[in-house]
Amino acid sequence: MTADAPLTDTRWQTLTTKIMDACAALACYTEVEGETNRPFLCPTTHQVHEYLTHWADELGMTTYEDAAGNLRSRLAGATPDARTLYLGSHLDTVPNAGAYDGILGVVMGYAMLEAVKGEALPYAVEVVGFSEEEGVRYGVPFIGSRALVGTVDDMLELCDAAGQSVRDAITEYGLNVEEMAEAQYKGKALGYFEIHAEQGPVLQDQGASLGVVDGIAGQNRLMLNFVGQASHAGTTPMNLRRDALAAAARFAVAAEDLARATPGLVATVGVMQALPGAMNVIPGEANCTLDIRHARDEVRLGALKALLETAEAASAERGVTVTVTPKMEEKATPMSGDFKALLHRAAEAEELPHPELVSGAGHDAMIMAAHMPSAMLFVRSPNALSHHPDEMVLPEDVTDALRVSVRFLHLLAEQNV
Ligand SMILES: [Zn+2]
Repeated sequence: MTADAPLTDTRWQTLTTKIMDACAALACYTEVEGETNRPFLCPTTHQVHEYLTHWADELGMTTYEDAAGNLRSRLAGATPDARTLYLGSHLDTVPNAGAYDGILGVVMGYAMLEAVKGEALPYAVEVVGFSEEEGVRYGVPFIGSRALVGTVDDMLELCDAAGQSVRDAITEYGLNVEEMAEAQYKGKALGYFEIHAEQGPVLQDQGASLGVVDGIAGQNRLMLNFVGQASHAGTTPMNLRRDALAAAARFAVAAEDLARATPGLVATVGVMQALPGAMNVIPGEANCTLDIRHARDEVRLGALKALLETAEAASAERGVTVTVTPKMEEKATPMSGDFKALLHRAAEAEELPHPELVSGAGHDAMIMAAHMPSAMLFVRSPNALSHHPDEMVLPEDVTDALRVSVRFLHLLAEQNV
């Protein structure tokens, strides 16, 4: 193969148009008229898969749905025992979604292969449209990618709001849950590469069309329950109060202060509730949440410890007690150093800025990275809008990302001949 066989500008533009058109077309397959809404294994998933299968057929790929409802399109490698590069993202959406979150990465997987059509890649490639990443229907994300890496079994009995289990949803969709073991990837994996809209403001702020993801932030989510004493707002002097909300408020501001002072740390108190909740009653109880994230586990855990000490101190000062309930903990997921280096080289060759950034949101790459070298390329999100119908990506940014990704395929091929 020729690593630098240049595509003409017209060809890149044609491919970009095909990507943008596919995202727009797939956004019309929805469970809710007038918006894009596609939860895990909803009936319109069939149409999404049919659309993408047409494209895969044009590329000479073999396509099937696995037992978790992932769409898998496979292009054979140079030899039967060639390693497999997985490209993809997710095809489910949040309610009232935009057209690009997840979908862009799947569609671009096909576009990358169209760009190299006719070249003999030494590795096999599988484009995967994961069936579930958003966690909307079952409250827990990554059913699709967990099936691919063989860790989905403990999710099959989860039930949605209507009481239907994952197992039954799979059967109703028309797949055989007994074949789940077949969904697990076989043979040697070369790695996983995911293109995704940034969904944040960093690339726009830096004036870059794309960025190389350094890692996916680890996170803790917890609930805090502050208990003091409700009493009369007029007759209780300040020194005799046990105001639970005041302690919680101190904690919330401390979280903001610490995150502002710590590079890369984000901390959010997203829920704050005062009880009994009357204008003339001192809050006897307050409940709040904390969501804290950082790319390095030791920074996140150090900050969490400091904040919980602040919650204790702010409570003790007021005769309030605080109880902490952990809700979720995810370790940080670093991306593959080798793959990152190739992406930087690819962007360098395309003469494009290529800042590194941390993903504050979870992605399928989080699950894949535990099993194979994984990398992500972010595409700028204008106005940082995501999980919103006005979510967008710029066609010229998509072209940049496609050029870099195709070069990444070539660099990877040079390493694996
Ligand atoms: Zn996504």
